[in-house]
Amino acid sequence: MKKMKKLVAFLLVAAMMVPMAACGNKVKSVGDIQKSGKLVMATNAEFEPFEFKDGDAVVGIDVEISQKIADRLGVELEISDIAFDTLITALQSGKADIVAAGMTADEDRRKNVDFSDAYFNASQAIIVMNDSDIASRGDLNGKKVGVQLGTTGDKYCTNEDGANDIEVAEVKRYSKGMEAVSDLIAGRIDAVVIDDFPAKKLVEKNADKIQKLDEALTEEEYAIAMPKGSADLQKEINAVISEMKESGELDQIVSKYIAEE
Ligand code: GLN
Repeated sequence: MKKMKKLVAFLLVAAMMVPMAACGNKVKSVGDIQKSGKLVMATNAEFEPFEFKDGDAVVGIDVEISQKIADRLGVELEISDIAFDTLITALQSGKADIVAAGMTADEDRRKNVDFSDAYFNASQAIIVMNDSDIASRGDLNGKKVGVQLGTTGDKYCTNEDGANDIEVAEVKRYSKGMEAVSDLIAGRIDAVVIDDFPAKKLVEKNADKIQKLDEALTEEEYAIAMPKGSADLQKEINAVISEMKESGELDQIVSKYIAEE
C-alpha cells in the first residue's frame, strides 16, 4: 500500500512537471531572475584559467565576470558545472540563465543562443610532444588529433564543412582537455588542438614533456551566451562587460590568472 502511495505521488509530481517544463521554455526576464534571487551560470570547470576547480570552489576569469553580472542584478551567483557539450541545452531548457565557459561566439551557436559582446580574443592552438615532428598546422595532416568534445577545436579538426585544408587521420574527442593531454603523453595521439590560453596552462604543468606551437589556427571571440530572446539581460551583461573593459578591471583579472602560476 505504501508503495502504491509512493507511486501515485511520483506520478502526480511527474504530471506536474510537464507544464513546468513547458514554462521553462519561456525566456526569463531580468525581473524573473531578480525574483528568483539567483543567476545560474552554467560552465565546464575544466578550462583553466577561465573556469577551474580550486578545492571545491569553481574559480576563474568567467566566474569573476559572472559575479559582476550577478552583483549588478542584485542576486546570488550559482554555478552549475556540467559537460561542455550540454551547455547550450541547459540554456534552452531554462536550467541555466547564462553560459560563461570560454565559449566562442560562433555562427552555428548563434542560431540557438544570444551572445553578449565579446570579452576575450582567443584562438585554437596545437600541443605536441617536445620531440614531435609536428611543427606547424600542415603537419596535422594524417595525424591523430585529440580535441574537447563539441568545441571549436573539435569543429576545426573534424572539418566537416571543409572550411580548412587540414585532413587529420582521426579526431579523438575528450570531455576534458587534461585527458587529451594524458593520451598525448601516453603516445595514443599525436597532437591536441585546444584554445590557446588553456593550452598554455596545460603545457605549464607538463613542460618537460609537451609544448605549444606558436601558430594560431583560428581567430575567435569569447562571449557570454544566454537564451535566445534575452534582450534585457543582454543589455545588462553588455553594460557590465563594457564597464569592466573601460575601467581596466577585465585586463586586471586576466593578468591575475596568467601571472598566477
Ligand atoms: N572556445 C571553445 C569553444 O567555444 C572551447 C571552450 C571550452 O572548451 N570551454 O568551443
